[in-house]
Amino acid sequence: MKILVTGGAGYIGSHTVLELLSHGHDVEVLDNFDNSSAESIRRVEKLAGRTVRVHELDLRDEPAVTALFAAGGYDSVIHFAGLKAVGESVAKPLAYYGNNLESTLVLLRAMAASDTRQLVFSSSATVYGDHAPVPYQEDHEPLGANNPYGWTKVMIEQVLRDVAASDSSWRIGILRYFNPVGAHESGEIGEDPSGIPNNLTPYIAQVAVGRRESLTVFGDDYDTPDGTPLRDYIHVLDLASGHVAALEHLAAMEGGARAWNLGTGHGSSVLEVIAAFEKATGVKVPYTVGPRRSGDLTESFGDPTRAEAELGWKATRSIDDMLTDLWRWQSQNAEGFGG
Ligand code: NAD
Ligand code: UDP
Repeated sequence: MKILVTGGAGYIGSHTVLELLSHGHDVEVLDNFDNSSAESIRRVEKLAGRTVRVHELDLRDEPAVTALFAAGGYDSVIHFAGLKAVGESVAKPLAYYGNNLESTLVLLRAMAASDTRQLVFSSSATVYGDHAPVPYQEDHEPLGANNPYGWTKVMIEQVLRDVAASDSSWRIGILRYFNPVGAHESGEIGEDPSGIPNNLTPYIAQVAVGRRESLTVFGDDYDTPDGTPLRDYIHVLDLASGHVAALEHLAAMEGGARAWNLGTGHGSSVLEVIAAFEKATGVKVPYTVGPRRSGDLTESFGDPTRAEAELGWKATRSIDDMLTDLWRWQSQNAEGFGG
């Protein structure tokens, strides 16, 4: 298949591009490098022993994107491009609605104009909002969110369902990711957040490598076994293989939009993640307990059985694998791709 990967230079995108190449697909990347660097793709090329054509474009640039599709001959698109920082989205809602919604609309119009109607979209567990019972089921309604980033995912999902309902030649996969962690086992590519990491495991890794002094655990008074919140951490390589499985399923699907949870179905607490990191790496992570972070849920984990039944996909890597691979990446690249 010839596949255009938007946001393919980013964290999940780069791992997925590598996985697609290893399955023999022909892959091109569209990215504006707003939150990534071309170095990630150079390393993917080295690991795969193949070249990847990169289009340095903003997805909101409609004339350029339309021209790209008119000439591209793509069979399918995987759409990762977007802004993703929850806290920043609260401070800059227009930037988030603007980028995430506009870029998706431009993409869908360019796809329709060039008769490319197979799409995999990066959604998130955040669409289950504050009140869904765990483990989250794909059919849960209503979807919702508690920040602008999350609302962009809810809104884009709705757009995709409406587009698929309007024309049965669209085949759309909506992948709801849980918490991606880890890196490729080579240590050559991984997550490289700009500024202070928002997420737990990159923060832990930066403390361990000496870039930050200590971790703050955001609250230990939750109603969980050790008082810290539970999340469904999933290895980024398992996520990447979920995209390949979704593409293969879509190619044989009749038409429509369908959502799948990509998670392990199991929640780990913040203190369990710290302990697992220390055990997997032998490196101590100093931490203090601070107040709760506003908006944090007590627990978030999904039911992955639909993905297993329909896509034939299941997460196979353990939390120890995730943290060992994270540490290999971080210790070999203390400053990320810029180091
Ligand atoms: P990332 O920031 O590493 O990758 C996103 C990429 O999109 C970046 O390379 C960025 O430069 C590019 N981009 C952003 N806006 C663009 C635009 N207008 N035009 C072209 N390129 C643009 O993020 P990631 O962690 O790899 O996440 C990928 C997708 O998965 C995002 O849609 C994100 O919302 C979603 N997601 C991520 C997580 C997570 O925890 N990482 C969880 C659930 C869902
Ligand atoms: N967390 C923490 N300290 C940090 C970052 C995160 O204690 O510096 C906690 C956070 O409260 C949550 C868990 O780690 O319970 C996962 O947070 P992350 O931001 O990685 O994922 P999300 O909350 O978006 O699922």
